[in-house]
Amino acid sequence: SSPLKILLVGSAGVGKSSLMSRFVHNRFCSRYRATIGADFFTKVMELEGQRVTVQLWDTAGAERFQSLGMALYRGSHCCVLVFDVTVATSFQAVAAQRAEFLMQADPPSPKQFPFVLLGNKTDLPGRQVSPREAEEWCAQTQAQYFETSAKDGTGVALAFHSASQAALRQ
Ligand code: GDP
Ligand code: MG
Repeated sequence: SSPLKILLVGSAGVGKSSLMSRFVHNRFCSRYRATIGADFFTKVMELEGQRVTVQLWDTAGAERFQSLGMALYRGSHCCVLVFDVTVATSFQAVAAQRAEFLMQADPPSPKQFPFVLLGNKTDLPGRQVSPREAEEWCAQTQAQYFETSAKDGTGVALAFHSASQAALRQ
């Protein structure tokens, strides 16, 4: 069967690349390396008794590659929206990022399209976004919420597993 395509979207520095590398390679790098253009990782998973290939796409720089935007978003099965729990503006940006995704991806039934919201960097002090605020946003938009730390690994497997399951049901 064809791979499930999952896109990671979020402000620069929230931890998209780190979450992918934690999930796919079980590694963390504290040095910041800006992602140029688009990157993807593949992981074979066992979901609902099936072997499924999941393609995780990091969308960094898609804004700078406008023409790439649409092709990149098209055919997605799930969108993972990432913010940093210690940066309020990264949470405030999520609504517009969701809208932009729907515009670019143009899925057949936008109301049913699965979104997963990740509040990342929960290992850090100085939280600016409460789980409750994030849960409330998810209740309104019918997204699933998970808290993660790419650094210590908390919640990462569960979040991507749920995203993959949502993608599989698409
Ligand atoms: P991206 O721009 O969204 O891809 O963000 P990166 O994955 O490149 O991460 C940006 C910076 O935040 C890097 O220095 C990472 O090491 C750091 N980082 C990412 N996730 C976490 C996390 O969960 N906890 C902590 N403490 N740092 C993180
Ligand atoms: Mg990146």
